[in-house]
Amino acid sequence: MSKTKLSSERIFNFSAGPSALPLEVLEEAQRELLSLGGIGMSVLEISHRSKQFTSIIESAEKNVRELLSVPENYQVLFLQGGASLQFAMVPLNFLKSSADYITTGAWGQKAIREARRRGNVNPIFSAEADGFKLAPRESALRFSSETDYVHYVSNETIQGVEFKYDLDAGGIPVVCDASSNILSKPIDVSKYALIYAGAQKNIGSSGVTLVIIRDDMLEKIPANQFAMLDYRHFAENKSLPNTPNTWGIYLVDLVCKWIKRRGGLPAMKQFNEEKAKILYAAIDSSDGYYRGHAERDSRSVMNVTFRLPSELLENKFCTEAAEAGLDGLKGHKTFGGIRASIYNACPRESVEALIDFMKHFAEKNG
Ligand code: PMP
Repeated sequence: MSKTKLSSERIFNFSAGPSALPLEVLEEAQRELLSLGGIGMSVLEISHRSKQFTSIIESAEKNVRELLSVPENYQVLFLQGGASLQFAMVPLNFLKSSADYITTGAWGQKAIREARRRGNVNPIFSAEADGFKLAPRESALRFSSETDYVHYVSNETIQGVEFKYDLDAGGIPVVCDASSNILSKPIDVSKYALIYAGAQKNIGSSGVTLVIIRDDMLEKIPANQFAMLDYRHFAENKSLPNTPNTWGIYLVDLVCKWIKRRGGLPAMKQFNEEKAKILYAAIDSSDGYYRGHAERDSRSVMNVTFRLPSELLENKFCTEAAEAGLDGLKGHKTFGGIRASIYNACPRESVEALIDFMKHFAEKNG
């Protein structure tokens, strides 16, 4: 197979995160790197209190609000510490008597582990015994009567398991880790109390965590909370209580503008579903050579996970794929197999090249 034709030096990138960014965004950032908007300085070199950066962060917030139709009674915040810090910040701020946790994969496991350090946790659903292949049906979930919130991970990046609905917990605050499927499709933000997402997949680069939090949640935060662990502190200071990741926030703005130019989240959803559809079809039509991990109705549109007949073949697959210009296909080290991460910025050509490679590989190694 020939190497990439995406641009002269770029290859087909299936990395799970940090992951491919839109070429247009990279080119724009490159163009502006030495002199942002003609000011003679880079965004990396100006104060986070400067008028130029103020307009960047305001634009990033405005664009996130527009794309996700964020209602007025929600704050859009840019934090640091990754989604992993949110595993701790959520219980630190909101776990008082107990919290419900739904576990559909490795990130949900990490979240519940952190919550347990803080207080009582009710593991109301776990798909661990079944090997993390599915998301629960909404009607099958039973919430605890005294729970402070319910937490779930809308897309498990490692196992490739995705919820196909915005969880409705009948008035219980819903907290969602949407790190790996945010901005991939429209969601109903009004159903959530708090959504968080590391930016390094669909929103921009690592080092920024997007938090969307409903105003009433801010009132529940203990008065003596440490400032840098307090959502209120970030809300009151418009995400600038200290020096933020200015470069990362600049990229969020560029990525959001790119998504808008592409037709917003409805167009993104259609584009992503088409890519996932042809890739899963290639798995399903391989006479069992490739075996998808997740159950069909829980299959992730973002992270397509599958197995080959042996680990030996999986290693060979990754090595030969890399030689053919297809990178980042090795499954997570704790889980194995193959994982193709096909986020917003992954072009259809990448998926088509992968399908082509898979067909040839199965023919040669069947
Ligand atoms: N949640 C999910 C769903 C993730 O995919 C990841 C990272 N891949 C994390 C949490 C942890 O994110 P971070 O590395 O930004 O802390």
